[in-house]
Amino acid sequence: MNHQHNKTHSTTTTKNLVRRSTSIALICAITGLLGCNSTSQKTLYDTTDNQPLYAQSASAPSSNIKAGNKLSGLAVVTHKGRQVMAIASEKTGITLAAINSDSQALNTQVISQLKGSYELLDSRQTSQRQWLITADAQTGQPVIFSATQDSDLISATATALRETRFQTDALCLYLDKQNNLFAFMLDGYGGGEMRWLWDARKDSLVDITVKQLSLPPGSESCAVDDASAALLVAEEEFGVWQYPAEPEGAWQRHLVAAVKPWGKVQASPIGVKAIAPYHFALFSEQGAAVYRLNNKGTHAEVVTPVKLNAQEIADVAWLNDKLLVLDEAADTIVSAPLAAKKIEKSIATAKQQLAPLPAVYPTVTAKAQTPAMQRRGDAADDPAIWVHPIHPEKSLVLGTNKKWGLFVYDLQGNETQAIATGHINNVDIRQGVRLAPNKKAQDIAIASNRSDNTLTVYTLNNGHVKQVANIATGLNDVYGVCLYAPNKQALYAFINDKDGRFKQYQLIENTAGIDANLVREFHLDSQPEACVANDATGELFIGEEDAGVWLFDANPTASISGRLIAAVGDVLVADVEGLGLINNALGNYLVVSSQGDNSYAIYQAEAPYNYVGSFRVGLNSDNQIDGTSETDGIAITGAALGEHYPQGLLVIQDGFNLMPSQPQNFKYVSWQDVINELAK
Ligand code: CA
Ligand code: CA
Ligand code: CA
Ligand code: CA
Ligand code: CA
Ligand code: CA
Repeated sequence: MNHQHNKTHSTTTTKNLVRRSTSIALICAITGLLGCNSTSQKTLYDTTDNQPLYAQSASAPSSNIKAGNKLSGLAVVTHKGRQVMAIASEKTGITLAAINSDSQALNTQVISQLKGSYELLDSRQTSQRQWLITADAQTGQPVIFSATQDSDLISATATALRETRFQTDALCLYLDKQNNLFAFMLDGYGGGEMRWLWDARKDSLVDITVKQLSLPPGSESCAVDDASAALLVAEEEFGVWQYPAEPEGAWQRHLVAAVKPWGKVQASPIGVKAIAPYHFALFSEQGAAVYRLNNKGTHAEVVTPVKLNAQEIADVAWLNDKLLVLDEAADTIVSAPLAAKKIEKSIATAKQQLAPLPAVYPTVTAKAQTPAMQRRGDAADDPAIWVHPIHPEKSLVLGTNKKWGLFVYDLQGNETQAIATGHINNVDIRQGVRLAPNKKAQDIAIASNRSDNTLTVYTLNNGHVKQVANIATGLNDVYGVCLYAPNKQALYAFINDKDGRFKQYQLIENTAGIDANLVREFHLDSQPEACVANDATGELFIGEEDAGVWLFDANPTASISGRLIAAVGDVLVADVEGLGLINNALGNYLVVSSQGDNSYAIYQAEAPYNYVGSFRVGLNSDNQIDGTSETDGIAITGAALGEHYPQGLLVIQDGFNLMPSQPQNFKYVSWQDVINELAK
């Protein structure tokens, strides 16, 4: 099928299919060509036993929903405790119809109708609420219905969502583990957008673009399996791709079903529909099959083919022992028997056999964010916080751009200074520290500079940052750095190499300015990055990315052996990245960026370093700030920094800056919010 050709002749593919099938039927009627008649069998999937998926028979039960309505979307929804069909139509709007499931015939009964002209349909429900999304067939504008569980979806007000900049070709919903509702809107050419529609935290409708989508041309149907958070996209002539449905994280795809010769699917897919946890139906013009996804959504296998008798399948839905099929050519709903027991068994198998999904943790939101980096890709890396000694609300955040230099931001997230230092990776800071007991107290920041493998030193004069020295390290590939200032009477810098070597320097002041003396060396077996020292106790915490968190003695004359206090596993998912220490009225904690599952783990910062809990940072609809993911560096202070951060500030590097899609940045989180959320 030539996509471009279709587009120029029809506003939607489904309409086009009806036209095409009608014309094929007409040609068949005139010519009586072989292969046109109903005995030609089409199979969607080449099963091992060569059983055809589609066998034409004259007795497919069809609904008494009247023809001539231009039906174009089908879903199963709950109405007064009962599962019923919802059907979108260009002529009759949205129809709710009950199904008498005892009968062999598809005995349907219209419950209510909402006038309008609609096409495309998807639905979601929780124990509290249900939603239906469709699109105005005339304007293409997406429309959502939301109702509490005990009220009628049809009597619920239809809310027109913001118009898309394209004719919506496919619509599908995603309900996350927190009951936030999202929609994917596809333009059929490979573009589209992800919208956040329902904010579960506020229990209210929002309508915010999370990100722009980039899909293959000819992506004309989508569905989300909420269980595995997998967005499934059917690409015509090719197959079904899986993308992550979660807003945060890398936009990566996996081919889960492909047409011949790449896979076993025999006909170009028309649509994909999520029908049960880990299960989706893939349908072609005349055939369908039910697939089971693995729990990462990266692979799928056929559970059961479905024998259908329909001329043009536009949509499907699963109800009890039937696959309901919207036959666009016949303009009615037909039903196909579905091996329901097989699917139930397969769902049970999936739930038993699949590896555990990423843990669900309490979620907080960011209060502010910095501007996007002026470089695309992985640019922002590590922050540090400078606390204003008199006016805490005037405190500053330093953030590295590892492709450019150092940025300084205020607590509102505005950029106040930019220093083109070079490719600096990590940064750390100490305030009011003397480099020797007889020297004046000063504020000093350091950074690991990958441009020349140096330790870059900055001074801060009333918060104004100045680069003052670049100290050669002799390392080949500098990576992480941190500072240690025992009693504020001396200052030590730790800098590591990706190969695991650490060098500890004492910063000194001489007539030429700030310099450093190497005082100790040690190493870890594999790549380290973040480190953080406790000035009060002399403890040095180091992250070995694939292994966990190590504890060393920060003092230059101490032993060079450490001990692993938190290993990579269920809680810490590699890489172990940013580390931070906080000690205030809310507790004495070590915070660790668990980059592999976009979470932050909290440990007691003193022996026995028990695990306290984990959290994530999610979407904030009030300030339109996205959550955080794939975090490298973090920084934390327990100081009260004004009304938004009464018990301290946590700054988090965000690998994927969304709402809208932009280069990376840093997010500000109130530590009080984290503790509150963990206490719930
Ligand atoms: Ca990164
Ligand atoms: Ca830092
Ligand atoms: Ca990493
Ligand atoms: Ca790293
Ligand atoms: Ca983000
Ligand atoms: Ca953002």
